[in-house]
Amino acid sequence: MEYMNVFLEELIQKYSSDKKGAQASYIPELAKVNPDYFGIAVVTVDGDVYSAGDIEQNFTLQSASKPFVYGMALEEHGREFIRARVGVEPSGEAFNSIVELEKNTHRPYNPMINSGAIAISSYIQDKDKIKRLERVLNLFGDYVNHPVSVDEAVFQSEKKTAHRNRSIAHLLRHFDVIGDDIEESLDLYFKQCSVLINTVDLATMAATLANNGVQPKSQKQVIKEEYVSDMLSLMFTCGMYDTAGEWAYTVGLPAKSGVSGCILAVVPGKMGIAAYSPLIDQHGHSVRSVNAIKDLVKKYNLSIFKS
Ligand code: GLU
Repeated sequence: MEYMNVFLEELIQKYSSDKKGAQASYIPELAKVNPDYFGIAVVTVDGDVYSAGDIEQNFTLQSASKPFVYGMALEEHGREFIRARVGVEPSGEAFNSIVELEKNTHRPYNPMINSGAIAISSYIQDKDKIKRLERVLNLFGDYVNHPVSVDEAVFQSEKKTAHRNRSIAHLLRHFDVIGDDIEESLDLYFKQCSVLINTVDLATMAATLANNGVQPKSQKQVIKEEYVSDMLSLMFTCGMYDTAGEWAYTVGLPAKSGVSGCILAVVPGKMGIAAYSPLIDQHGHSVRSVNAIKDLVKKYNLSIFKS
């Protein structure tokens, strides 16, 4: 790890000139973000931080929120309840696909794609007089060890243009996967996607999963240890959507991307990795972040199959 900061800086230099991809434009507010932002961070299970680039730049979590809210739903309802409603199979389809709901059991294939994640958000309810949104914000606050907030402009932007996610939600209602609080559940989903964090925060969230659910700084058990492997195995098989196979083959780490341009990856027992840069490919993954994480994993031999 001695030269990690130097290597991360080299990655920023190497990929900064790569202008491939585009900002997500179906959420208009995301298209306004400076495409040049680029940050990368590693946080170890002991809480050591290595980083380079625009690591203090805030961005919205988008789908990087999905594994964490899935973990919360597991804690709240248990495995049986969740598995009866949302599957654990990769879909092989795009992140926002609606077709798989027409197939098979009329259940979302997994909680990492939009259909599954919208269902999961609907299962997070008010509890002990704490509103569902506050519970989710507290959860992310625990993972990053400071309070977090929602980017209101990104939230409103997605809410206004979310015709596809809204149709998914109505189809979920039609098949009795979710209840009648469709708009409220969508709002919660859009808000969890609009939570603001930076690259070091995201690497810290990944490090918490690498550390069996214990936040490296606060030492708080943020998610019960027994559910961490549920989250990681689904990140591994489904976290990178329709390139999950390619990612597993070339990188060999559980990971999750978000259309804001962020990716987190987990090296169990060792560290969390995160990168952020807004230009994304057709699968919804940041081009620079994918390349930088691939190089990092190769250099330090981090694949779970090589340890
Ligand atoms: N909020 C985005 C959506 O629901 C998240 C997608 C993603 O980050 O992959 O479409």
